[in-house]
Amino acid sequence: MELKGKNAIVTGAARGIGRGIALKLAAAGANVAIVDLGNPADRALTYNLSAQTELNRTVDEVKKLGVKAIPILADVTRYADLERMASEVVAKLGAIDILVNNAGIIAVGPVSDFAEDAWDRVMAVNAKGPFLCAKACIPHMAKQSEGAIVNIASVAGKTGHGGASAYCASKFAVVGFTQALAEELGPLNIRVNAVCPGFLRTAMWTDVLDPLIGAQYGVNREAAFDEYIARNTYLKREQTPADIGEAVVYLCRANNITGETINVAGGGEVH
Ligand code: NAD
Repeated sequence: MELKGKNAIVTGAARGIGRGIALKLAAAGANVAIVDLGNPADRALTYNLSAQTELNRTVDEVKKLGVKAIPILADVTRYADLERMASEVVAKLGAIDILVNNAGIIAVGPVSDFAEDAWDRVMAVNAKGPFLCAKACIPHMAKQSEGAIVNIASVAGKTGHGGASAYCASKFAVVGFTQALAEELGPLNIRVNAVCPGFLRTAMWTDVLDPLIGAQYGVNREAAFDEYIARNTYLKREQTPADIGEAVVYLCRANNITGETINVAGGGEVH
């Protein structure tokens, strides 16, 4: 699919990987709806999500690349928000060609101590969110002759790790959902693929995983990320939001690829 002039929705795009995806899609010529909560406080989490100022900043950065960009406040767990999101994109940009389900959260801890509401929230955002966004967008996407959905899963959706059971379960769900939806939407020429990012120095690592991994490895939290990369990747380097954005652009363009799940992990996961 040629991306110039196409219209994309990227959820969780105010910062981190979603911002990187939005910038790469824009550089390829697509207009982008930047969707995020606009509220850092999620009471099930131990870290802050992004603020509305970050959402607006990303919109400005995308516009500077010469495409249209619109901010949309929406919670991917609320279907009414997502119906509004889809209608707003069609009204302001004209159509929906691409949906990138990137919004995601993490909570860690052993199962025996893990709060039920944290499990529910992780599953609601990471696993149910892509379903609700797809449900809201597919009727609009079906009006075009082609389309692409890219779900951002994780290497944690390929191999489970102790201490991250809810997160891993939610990302395994994303991989299964990707395959099922790819078969379902094949006849509409809407391709559905997933990217499994490896290890990026975003809030998920700096605020949540670094203390956990540091304790496991017996190093301080500042050293935990680098130690993890050194021990667990073939290439011995971290990934960047731009790396994930490149993979998303590739999957949006790749007319004969659907139902696929691509690791972008420096060899940190090879299945
Ligand atoms: P991040 O916390 O920097 O960004 C996530 C964004 O999603 C934030 O802007 C947040 O406000 C938004 N968000 C959270 N809940 C939302 C909701 N209910 N509705 C709308 N927006 C919501 O994290 P990130 O590292 O950029 O993660 C982006 C995606 O990549 C996630 O799905 C994550 O699971 C996945 N991922 C990250 C890594 C990593 O190493 N950082 C690795 C593999 C996969």
